[in-house]
Amino acid sequence: MTTETFEFQVEARQLLKLMIHSVYSNKDVFLRELVSNASDALDKLRLAALRGDVPDADVSDLHIELEVDKDARTLTVRDNGIGMSYDEVTRLIGTIANSGTAKFLQELREAQDGAGADGLIGQFGVGFYSGFMVADEVTLVTRHAGEAEGTRWTSKGEGTYTLERIDGLPQGTAVTLHLKPADAENQLHDYTSAWKIKEIVKRYSDFITWPVRLLPEPGEDGDGAKAREAETLNSMKALWARPRDEVSDDEYHELYKHIGHDWRDPLETIRLQAEGTFEYQALLFVPSHAPHDLFTQGYRRGVQLYVKRVFIMDDCEELLPPYLRFVKGVVDAQDLSLNVSREILQQDRHIRMIQRRLTKKVLSTVKDLRTSAPERYATFWREFGAVLKEGLVTDSENRDAILAACSFASTRDADEPTSLKDYVERMKEGQDDIYYMTGESRAAIENSPHMEAFRAKGVEVLLLTDAVDEVWVDAVGEYEGKTLRSVAKGEIDLSGTEDDKSEAEKEKQGEEYAGLLGWMSEHLGEDVKEVRLSHRLTVSPACVVSDAGELTPALENMYRAMGQ
Ligand code: ADP
Ligand code: MG
Repeated sequence: MTTETFEFQVEARQLLKLMIHSVYSNKDVFLRELVSNASDALDKLRLAALRGDVPDADVSDLHIELEVDKDARTLTVRDNGIGMSYDEVTRLIGTIANSGTAKFLQELREAQDGAGADGLIGQFGVGFYSGFMVADEVTLVTRHAGEAEGTRWTSKGEGTYTLERIDGLPQGTAVTLHLKPADAENQLHDYTSAWKIKEIVKRYSDFITWPVRLLPEPGEDGDGAKAREAETLNSMKALWARPRDEVSDDEYHELYKHIGHDWRDPLETIRLQAEGTFEYQALLFVPSHAPHDLFTQGYRRGVQLYVKRVFIMDDCEELLPPYLRFVKGVVDAQDLSLNVSREILQQDRHIRMIQRRLTKKVLSTVKDLRTSAPERYATFWREFGAVLKEGLVTDSENRDAILAACSFASTRDADEPTSLKDYVERMKEGQDDIYYMTGESRAAIENSPHMEAFRAKGVEVLLLTDAVDEVWVDAVGEYEGKTLRSVAKGEIDLSGTEDDKSEAEKEKQGEEYAGLLGWMSEHLGEDVKEVRLSHRLTVSPACVVSDAGELTPALENMYRAMGQ
């Protein structure tokens, strides 16, 4: 068969270069990435077999195998999972067609420290390429379950890779790393050492539900590998089914990294067990960083669904509402059919019950973070606040719980956002409404003439700068009986809050200015509805306001963008 040579895309080349001249503090994680891919491939095959999609596949002994050849200095990670077709190899391994890659590279260059870069790599799903941190050549051979022909891919990670169609391959995928020359200085990075491999698998991949076996090295006397048994390195225990006090935080974090395709620790781990008629276990994670594509159409949301320890699907959208789409994790239900489909899930009463329970649990966890771990809460809010607020519009049932988990920038303190509860507690004598203003940025809002009277009187105003803010304030309307009122809409009555002009004075002013106002209305004609004397300005001569209940300009733009 012919071998064809292809060029990596520019982006892929840049990425590989970064990988080879590694910026990472911890190279051991390449093995985690390869084992993680192998595990995913086994999950996919079992599911396809359950659905009857791959009648010819062999699912009798699904496992992951590690093999070391000390003389050749190679390490092979092999699985007998779903494998890849020729086209899939081209699409998944040969290119990084992912639109986020350019942005990723940009961020990577900006990340000053190695730790930041570590995290970025995982987020952008370039796990396979991490092999090039430790190898100067990588070979991948694979055959898709049920297909006859296989594929070999090789690359030195420089400018090109080769592809070849080959026959006679076993089902599944084998990735062989031709390890870089031994580093005499640093024994810690000897990946041909059985001890080292065991240690890495134990540390990063213990929970993988498939056996990870290390093949024995050929003996000195040449009795060969067959004489001795392969050793299973991982315990294969489903973490979500084990009691909380038996599992360390590190173990939870490694599971998160596997299912969340992230290299960073999660911000929060949430565990939930339901017993009784409909039994399930859930292990949820709040990441510490928002993924780059959280607000794009193609974002794959949802947690993994298992049924009695068997992986059923990734991104099960039915388990959490869209505004919690950043949450990762696993739900293992005991009483669903292994054949459950998306259509069934959408109608399943139990799935809806799980969703309600998980939603409440996530919201209460965030709310508790606010008091128990203010710094972690601040991180949460910075990363996910804008998404969470979507729930104020779409989930009226949980509105109060969402509001309790929300924070808002305010004029009171430039650095510290406030809860609505705290705002209300600070409200001035005589103040009936909760004031807010929406805008592009804090600076733009603070410079607005609408703010003058509020500043002068020391009345606190919430500063809302996310697109969704325009919508939720209308949807929510009020909090604890206090109306949410825009400082830019309609007439604002700040009288009663202190030092106000008397009614008599106002009337006198009205008479004085009647002529001017009439003249102005006439000249502005159709452009304005009314010209009136304002008591809200202290410095600026005039400002434009909308009627209460009318769309603000920003909201008008948003609806137009949504095609409404
Ligand atoms: P990710 O795992 O985050 O998708 P990777 O770079 O690790 O990113 O892998 C890219 C893709 O290549 C995987 O999504 C999968 O489709 C495919 N792949 C990688 N390793 C294997 C394997 N051992 N078996 C089958 N497919 C694989
Ligand atoms: Mg991967």
